[in-house]
Amino acid sequence: MAAACQTKNEINIVQNQAQSFLDAYNVKYRALITVDNLAQWKLNTRIVKGDTMSQYQAGLADKVFAKFTGSKENIDSAKKYLGLKDSLTPLQFRQFQIILYNAGNNPEIAGDKVDKRIKIANQLTTLLYGSKFYIDKKSIPIGSIDSILENSQNLSLRLKAWESSKEIGKTLKTGLDSFRDLLNANVTPLGYKNYFDYTSESYDLTGDQMVDLTRGFIVDIWPLYREIHTWARYHLAAKYHQPVPDFIPAQWLPDRWGQNWDHLAKIESMSIDSVLKKHSAEWLAHQGEKFYMSLGFDSLPKSFWENSSLYPAPPDSPYTKNNHASAWHIDLDTDVRSLQSITPTTEYWSTVLHEFGHIYYFLSYSTPEVPYVLRNGANSGFHEAFGTMIGMASLQKPLLESQGLIQKGLVMNDTLNLLNEALNSIVFIPWSAGVMTEFEYNLYSKNLPEDQFNKLWWELVKKYQGIVPAGPRGEEYCDAASKTHTTTTPAYYYNYAIARVLQYQFHQYIADSILHQDPRATNYWGQKDVGAFLKKIMRPGASIPWQENLRTNIHSNISAKAMMDYFKPLLNYLQRINSGRNYTLPEKLN
Ligand SMILES: [Zn+2]
Repeated sequence: MAAACQTKNEINIVQNQAQSFLDAYNVKYRALITVDNLAQWKLNTRIVKGDTMSQYQAGLADKVFAKFTGSKENIDSAKKYLGLKDSLTPLQFRQFQIILYNAGNNPEIAGDKVDKRIKIANQLTTLLYGSKFYIDKKSIPIGSIDSILENSQNLSLRLKAWESSKEIGKTLKTGLDSFRDLLNANVTPLGYKNYFDYTSESYDLTGDQMVDLTRGFIVDIWPLYREIHTWARYHLAAKYHQPVPDFIPAQWLPDRWGQNWDHLAKIESMSIDSVLKKHSAEWLAHQGEKFYMSLGFDSLPKSFWENSSLYPAPPDSPYTKNNHASAWHIDLDTDVRSLQSITPTTEYWSTVLHEFGHIYYFLSYSTPEVPYVLRNGANSGFHEAFGTMIGMASLQKPLLESQGLIQKGLVMNDTLNLLNEALNSIVFIPWSAGVMTEFEYNLYSKNLPEDQFNKLWWELVKKYQGIVPAGPRGEEYCDAASKTHTTTTPAYYYNYAIARVLQYQFHQYIADSILHQDPRATNYWGQKDVGAFLKKIMRPGASIPWQENLRTNIHSNISAKAMMDYFKPLLNYLQRINSGRNYTLPEKLN
């Protein structure tokens, strides 16, 4: 009895000490991130030529924040408390996990390897964005290369454009090798096995588990991908008047990596431009809020409308702004803002609803129950999954009809629409979950030797995407590095695959179990039950494991089966079209 009492006492002492540390950490963390966010906000919303002050301040705020999160003191404390797991509450334990994880960006204990990594990262970025592209020795902007791949029928020009886009890899290859070593060296002192294991830890997974997970996605959608691949081989061969190839030549596809083929079934996409033209950009923004309020969410804070930068900078203004839409959680509380350049177009109709989805997610977990360090998506994929899901739902026919944005009973080619969507969504999975993820896994976890970078890359491309290069791609090239993310956001790409998969899972659950509507023709507008469902998933932020969140709310583990269900009519259609054709991808992925 006495011993038990003492143990309980000891636990209390540990918990109290841990809590004091966490309270102080959270306050400081929030204060520093707010300063950093404000500086970045200014840098993105008011770009004034020659304004070095804003850049300097943003750089300084970054440094101060990184110094705090990476300090030896914080690392030591996190490690100490993580070792006392049994004495901590689950919420405390989660915070220490994140605190250690946050240190990985700038760990003081990795010594000069941090500065070396930052230096080489900057060099790689400069090389990447500063590089020029040439066709027949004439300099050509990258946008023109993309346009050739999207539109040109001239195969020799296509090949030149594709080859030109890959030249950059040669320049980046040696840098990528050192970058890998330094990234690994930055995180191993924190106890992570390598950099891929480190980033996977944000999903509570090891690197091996991450690769198992993403490979599972490809297995799930493989029967449909195989049909699409077969269809595309015949479709492209006819288009270019060529014999049908076993594997698709890379330069035949409409982008540099074969990651999105939606140009192959270009359709009159759902356009509501003509109706939206009658409204103002302000009207469109307020429709976004109205949509969420119709689901039962509160109105947005007044400060959102005062502080956001929602519309294009006027042509005569002394500043410009970043045109890429984004959502910001400035103070990890109610200071939420969005940066957009809204004009009344179809694109912004779904962009507004997408970005406001992030905003409502921020607000949902800004509660006293969720400590500041855990005010984040359940995992990185959740945030994007919600945004993209709402963006997708915002363009479905019944919703648009209900808002008077299209005529009732408008007839469209649903199969072609679905094919167009699959050429984007399904085609993305073997690329993101397979090629990118497994290349980076091998790079960081298996220390892939420099003389095998390109060999492995093309093995993966052929195996998962069924794509081959026009000619030999020896080790003088480094085609993996032609993808920006490889050097700018390393070991991160699987997030996009996860978000895509979750998007369809949440949408399927809403369509089947809440709305009882066809997932391809839903109307979320005004459905309070949908809002209640979203709030329940959003509210805990990152304070509970994401797997638990999924199981509680959609009664399922993560899987790409919902994607397959969504595209079921397309599978049947393609099987008919492809009947009698020669399939070159194996029936089962091994
Ligand atoms: Zn987003």
